[in-house]
Amino acid sequence: MVEIVINKDKCDACGECVDVCPSGVYEIKDEKAEPINIEDCVECCACIDVCPNGAIEHSSC
Ligand code: SF4
Ligand code: SF4
Repeated sequence: MVEIVINKDKCDACGECVDVCPSGVYEIKDEKAEPINIEDCVECCACIDVCPNGAIEHSSC
């Protein structure tokens, strides 16, 4: 099972992960990224590559 954790100290709500994810896993909530649809993740690792702050921890990437 995929696990995604956002380091909220590092996330600046730029929205890059929301835009790049092909599965709509993320949304911005209270000025931070929130993985709301983890079950739809296809493990492409694009979110990890795009995040400018290294704020995403992903169990498959
Ligand atoms: S690994 Fe790919 S599908 Fe999964 S959350 Fe990141 S961008 Fe979306
Ligand atoms: S790309 Fe990184 S810094 Fe930007 S909203 Fe997503 S988790 Fe936060």
